[in-house]
Amino acid sequence: MREAPTLNTRGSGNVATRDRGLVWHPYAPLNGPEPYAVSGASGVRLSLSCPDGSSAEVVDAMASWWCAVHGYGHPALNAAAHRQIDDFSHVMFGGLTHEPAVELAERLVAMAPGPMAHVFYADSGSVSVEVALKLALQYQAATGSPQRQRFLTIRGGYHGDTFAAMSVCDPVDGMHSAFPGVLASHLFAPRPPLARVDADGRWTTDEEALDRWTADFRSLAATHAGELAAIVVEPVLQGAGGMRPYDPRCVQVMREVADEHGLLLIADEIATGFGRTGRLFACEWAGVTPDVMCVGKALTGGYLSLAAVLMTSRVGAAITGSSFGALLHGPTFMANPLACAVASASLDLLGDSWAVNVARVASGLRAGLAPALELASVREVRTVGAVGVIQLDRAVDVPAVTAAAVRNGVWVRPFRDLVYTMPPYVTTDDDIATICAGMVAAVREVHQ
Ligand SMILES: *Cc1c(COP(=O)(O)O)cnc(C)c1O
Repeated sequence: MREAPTLNTRGSGNVATRDRGLVWHPYAPLNGPEPYAVSGASGVRLSLSCPDGSSAEVVDAMASWWCAVHGYGHPALNAAAHRQIDDFSHVMFGGLTHEPAVELAERLVAMAPGPMAHVFYADSGSVSVEVALKLALQYQAATGSPQRQRFLTIRGGYHGDTFAAMSVCDPVDGMHSAFPGVLASHLFAPRPPLARVDADGRWTTDEEALDRWTADFRSLAATHAGELAAIVVEPVLQGAGGMRPYDPRCVQVMREVADEHGLLLIADEIATGFGRTGRLFACEWAGVTPDVMCVGKALTGGYLSLAAVLMTSRVGAAITGSSFGALLHGPTFMANPLACAVASASLDLLGDSWAVNVARVASGLRAGLAPALELASVREVRTVGAVGVIQLDRAVDVPAVTAAAVRNGVWVRPFRDLVYTMPPYVTTDDDIATICAGMVAAVREVHQ
């Protein structure tokens, strides 16, 4: 006789031990370093069980990959989630609508830079990028240029891990070599030169390098204009591609080039949106209005996965007037009411306080990370808004630096040559000082 499938098997013992070999972690082998187990999260703190058997309470310098801008267990976000789950937590969006989705869309178009008119909800940032790219192709086909099927972007970008999103990530860091023949071939302009922004919001960059970049970008676009559907970029700050700020004038050049050649400008504000760089949206540094904008990450304050694609009425009208008439996408969990309700509550919390908090965090990071410059292994320290970065002259020993930071009361997740923080906006000055001191101490202990 066949045994009934086991639905109730639950292992016993240490969760991190049970995790190993069973559950994949991002960009990690099954037998990678043992993860830290989270037993609680409150305010800006995580309670951890460490691989060495100890427990630790740490300040979360990562805001859970840049999402938890209000910290954990915020009473207002909890209340919004409870209210909505008692009402209904999910319904399909085909043929149905609901208050949380409509309210959030009204608020998003009202706060967006420029005249955004329509919202398409997606269930993750990567999917929102897929939708944005797809809608650019539909837009071009609808306006008589179906042959325009390539995208122009800059090196060093990150737009997500699904295939179309991956195809516009940096070709080297984005692991294009792992999928030969599968990824569409798009156009990569050079990285804009690294820029700095001071406490008063003044940007400086090497003017000659900026001129050279501008000429290169313009000529690449001109050469390929007839094949291009859109420019897709992270405005002003490249995130997962290297935590690299660049001059807002580059975004202005992109806008001009898009207009000259009939391309859409897609702003991927998934990392930069909702105040992280010191402007509500990073496009505002450049005074530029995109045609299409993707938001995600901090949209729900880190509670639930939700992203949105905002677009102008020109884009919406072209697609509506096309032979399909529709935007050809529709995820199962599109416009999830629970996520939308929490997102609206998160926007309430952002209110006007985000600007004060981000400026305060920014000045704490500038002061607190400066001592890192005295370390032999440190090549550069940079901050932009509530983002602080220590760049080493070598690859970070991630397990060792993580463990050293935890011993110093801080959770970080370094990558490549970068130890960085994107803390919750509500992090107090004392906790920002703890984050900075912990990062500097961890680099000193491991790399000198
Ligand atoms: C994180 C990120 C994405 C992908 O979002 P997911 O929710 O992880 O799919 C896309 N673009 C940028 C700029 C990001 O930072």
